[in-house]
Amino acid sequence: MSIQQRISLLFTALAAGILLVFMLIVYFSANQNRKSEFYNILQKEALTKVNLLLNVKLDANTLQTIYRKNREVLYEVEVAIYNQNKELLYHDAVDIDFVKETPEMLAEIREQKMIRFVQDQWQVIGQLIEVDNEPYYVTAAAFDAYGYRNLENLRNTMLVSFFFGLAIIYLIGRYFSQKTMDPITDMVNEAQKISASNLDLRLHIPKRNDELGVLAETFNQMLERLEKSFDAQKQFVSHISHELRTPLSVIIAELELSQNKKRSKEEYKETVISVLADAKKLAKLSSTLLDFAKASYDRSEVNFKQFRVDELLLDASQELQLLNQSFKVDLDFEGDFEEEEITVFGNSYLLTIAFKNLIENACKYSSNHTCRCSISTSGNQVQVAFKDEGIGIYPEELEEIFNPFFRGKNKNIFEGTGIGLALVKRIVNLHDAEVTVQSKPGKGSTFIISIPRI
Ligand code: ADP
Repeated sequence: MSIQQRISLLFTALAAGILLVFMLIVYFSANQNRKSEFYNILQKEALTKVNLLLNVKLDANTLQTIYRKNREVLYEVEVAIYNQNKELLYHDAVDIDFVKETPEMLAEIREQKMIRFVQDQWQVIGQLIEVDNEPYYVTAAAFDAYGYRNLENLRNTMLVSFFFGLAIIYLIGRYFSQKTMDPITDMVNEAQKISASNLDLRLHIPKRNDELGVLAETFNQMLERLEKSFDAQKQFVSHISHELRTPLSVIIAELELSQNKKRSKEEYKETVISVLADAKKLAKLSSTLLDFAKASYDRSEVNFKQFRVDELLLDASQELQLLNQSFKVDLDFEGDFEEEEITVFGNSYLLTIAFKNLIENACKYSSNHTCRCSISTSGNQVQVAFKDEGIGIYPEELEEIFNPFFRGKNKNIFEGTGIGLALVKRIVNLHDAEVTVQSKPGKGSTFIISIPRI
């Protein structure tokens, strides 16, 4: 069932419930009024007959004839009068005698002066009336046909208006819910046209400043983000293929050259060395890309553990120095901290890669090939600094160095892939940490990673 139908039905059911409660209240209070009005009529009728019989001294036969005549056209009140000895003085119609005045009933009338009850839909009153200081027991009974007919009319009118009203309420509800849902239907139609190939399409934002406007705007913002990330992915893939193609083309060209022409042993050796260097570059690029993919995982997919930052930094510097003996790393923190001060929660493999990248850059981009690493704590953060006295970074490049495949102006002098800092940034984000950089061209750079402590 559509939301629109659900809203109209809910609206109608609610209105039906409210109407029904009101109708029941009206019906029962009308019935209550009818009942008490009719008791009053019975009381007056009883009094009139007592007056006619005892005060006006009208003949009982005449009264009974009036009763019988009236009864043919309307529901006449049947009255019975007893004297104080509970002997019957007058009865409108002994043969009909609807109310049986038992001694118990008369005793009750004496005690309570006035009784009222309903017998087979007939309303009955019994009362004690004094005439010339003598008490008389009088009962009067009748069926309130007129009142019941009115009540029935009222019920029928209310039922017809109820169903008629419900139909109108349902139609109005449908109209308004349709009006409310129209913009949503439009949005669905528009959203259905958006796919990976036309992510530039946007939803039309309704002019009204309501939830639907906010929804359309939020959806458009999401599309904006998706489009950007799609573009970034596309760019990334084309960068990767470019980076892979260049060394591969060099390898192929060199191998073809040595295949086509006979070479000396020395020349073959040179070719092998050059091809090996390119192959190593490729291997490094592919393992960096693999790490990049790992760092792009959701946090829940990466194994997190507690470890000491100083131990991790030591491992990273040793691993790097093993690969490149010309790199020097000064560690500036030995034994300075309590264990809990520098224990963090994270993935040690990925953080080691981030540290290694920063140390490698510091050594690579400085003539003394030295990186000074220090650890400090501030608030609930552990800060690891990587400082070099190298070529530094131009201010206009500072914004871009964390973008994948970005390489500085010196890219032709220093070897690299342009993924190192992008990888550092991803790893840092995965750890809810932060990386900042301060650099002056010709003076050197300091990269600082701030990681939350446990
Ligand atoms: P690359 O493989 O080129 O080193 P990175 O992503 O690690 O790629 O770094 C991106 C760019 O940032 C580098 O090309 C370089 O211009 C600049 N850079 C990074 N670290 C340093 C540093 N310590 N000193 C000077 N420049 C740096």
